[in-house]
Amino acid sequence: SEFLVEVRDLKVHFPIRRGVILDRTVGHVKAVDGVDLSIPRGKTYGLVGESGCGKSTLGRALLQLTPPTGGEVRFDGVELTKLPAGKLRSMRRRMQMIFQDPMSSLDPRQNVESILTEGLQAHGIGGNRDERRRVIGETLDKVGLPRWALSRYPHEFSGGQRQRIGIARALVLGPDLIVADEPVSALDVSIQAQVVNLLDDLQDTLGLTYLVIAHDLAVVRHISDTVGVMYLGALVEEAPSDRLYTEPMHPYTRALMSAVPVPDPDVEDRRERILLAGDLPSPANPPAGCRFHTRCPWAQPTRCADERPALRDVGGSRVACHFAERIASGELRPHKVSVQLTRP
Ligand code: SF4
Ligand code: MG
Repeated sequence: SEFLVEVRDLKVHFPIRRGVILDRTVGHVKAVDGVDLSIPRGKTYGLVGESGCGKSTLGRALLQLTPPTGGEVRFDGVELTKLPAGKLRSMRRRMQMIFQDPMSSLDPRQNVESILTEGLQAHGIGGNRDERRRVIGETLDKVGLPRWALSRYPHEFSGGQRQRIGIARALVLGPDLIVADEPVSALDVSIQAQVVNLLDDLQDTLGLTYLVIAHDLAVVRHISDTVGVMYLGALVEEAPSDRLYTEPMHPYTRALMSAVPVPDPDVEDRRERILLAGDLPSPANPPAGCRFHTRCPWAQPTRCADERPALRDVGGSRVACHFAERIASGELRPHKVSVQLTRP
């Protein structure tokens, strides 16, 4: 298959427990609630959405770090959700994760050499000591860290260098897929581009496949081939990266885009700013019908509150909105929009 990863109707529902010994289940948090997505080999899928939309849970469920409660995850043609623990373990080497804050995911008492050796030993690869040293040395070269880094500890490095250690720890195992959860959001803006470029270069030279999770739309844009937008546990839009940014179709995507600042400070920003009413509803109790209808500036009675829209093809994008065409053509006007002017 051209796809390394194929996710079908993925669900992760966490029970909400009550009672003295938490023995009563009173509901479920539907963190991921029926997601379909596929990632072609050697490509990058960017996943965006507000915090609490389920994007991190989806990333963890994909790697089976959080067990899905429904649906399928195929990795290189193998269905992971039904795999015995031993087999899953050997697949895990091929699927690695990079985290937002390397400081909290790196053991401060381990130097870089032992951080990198640990993974190799856990998976029984890398052979003898000399062979391991060679693999580790090559990995340091790939991420642009000097050899003397081996004897140093995480706190001796800058944030950007620590993220390089986190990337090295993933790379040393020779993975095919990397799930990067907010890989640069803890870093200074000036460092972010370096790390994003490093990930991009590694993809080109090693043929890696990425799922990059971020709340920041700008981060995902340049590295992604395809971008998916999540809202309350579901994908509301998926499109080729350029298309999503130039022609957002779903009302939620439009609102997110309208909040992205114009990069050039000398240009007056005269765009319509789409303001969303209210807060993100609880994923324990998502609205019926279209789950965005409580905040959607285009919501129409009564279909939007009654009928859940499926993701469907609309002019090169996949969009979960009953009225995508009529919104795109301008036939339907939003109820609540303000024009925000920002001056340099
Ligand atoms: Fe808005 Fe209705 Fe479209 Fe949902 S289906 S995004 S509520 S217009
Ligand atoms: Mg790329």
